[in-house]
Amino acid sequence: MSKEEITFDGCNELVSRFESVIHKPVTEKSSVYYTGVDLGTACVVLAVLDENYKPAAGAYRYADVVRDGMVVDYIGAIRIVRELKEELEEKLGTELIYASAAIPPGTDSLDGGAIKNVVQGAGFEITALLDEPTAANAVLKIKNGAVVDIGGGTTGISILKDGKVVYVADEPTGGTHFSLVVSGAYHMPFAEAEAYKRKEENHRELLPVLKPVVEKVASIISRHIKCYDVEEIYLVGGTCCLAGIEQIIEKQTGVRTRKPQNPMFVTPLGIAFSCNQEEMA
Ligand code: ATP
Repeated sequence: MSKEEITFDGCNELVSRFESVIHKPVTEKSSVYYTGVDLGTACVVLAVLDENYKPAAGAYRYADVVRDGMVVDYIGAIRIVRELKEELEEKLGTELIYASAAIPPGTDSLDGGAIKNVVQGAGFEITALLDEPTAANAVLKIKNGAVVDIGGGTTGISILKDGKVVYVADEPTGGTHFSLVVSGAYHMPFAEAEAYKRKEENHRELLPVLKPVVEKVASIISRHIKCYDVEEIYLVGGTCCLAGIEQIIEKQTGVRTRKPQNPMFVTPLGIAFSCNQEEMA
């Protein structure tokens, strides 16, 4: 079977453009702005695209308003999204009206309503609500393989065949568990361990400490993909910033595993791509 080679070039360029507009928003006026709201377990990210779906601005904040994909601090979540929205509106000199959001796969009936209400409560018109790995694939554009989104609280798995999502799953293991392991191993308070883990210069030292928890994530991935003919795994989500995570997952699953340069902002950008100007029913 001939296989397409995903280069990540477009994705890497888009993410690096987004990283630069976080620091320096594009202030030339656009006729419309599309915002993606990623309300995560560890981090709330707003990605703003212009009328041509090019990154215009972005902001994020580490927060504790969602656990295992569920909104646990509803008022806190609205406040953070509203504050980030206002911060971006001030930088862009315009009101942000349209937004889309995402939820971990499978939590739709439980929590989709809460996420929608948070986005509306913050003052947006919500135009789309999709699952996280599917959002990530709006940027990656994978036709065949598994997109695995390892976030703060959960790992989302989406299997694609000929460009269609044929299976989605979400499991409550993610970067928060990595931080707990660091906290235990180094006798550090959780917040300190979380910050220590995020520093790239510590990754080489941390990889052996984190290997067992990465292998646990790999075993979760294996369990979900075993009934499908998956030839490649594509990693996204903040936890995949950990240098070397892809090698452990590849070895443990036996499936070629790849990731873009900065896997952290792929899902928020994918969410923004699905935003339009029509309010959801
Ligand atoms: P979820 O998708 O589970 O709801 P989330 O959307 O908050 O969570 P992401 O924003 O994709 O998840 O990722 C957040 C996680 O990524 C956190 O656990 C954070 O510690 C981790 N993370 C972020 N940057 C890095 C880094 N440079 N190195 C290692 N881990 C990182």
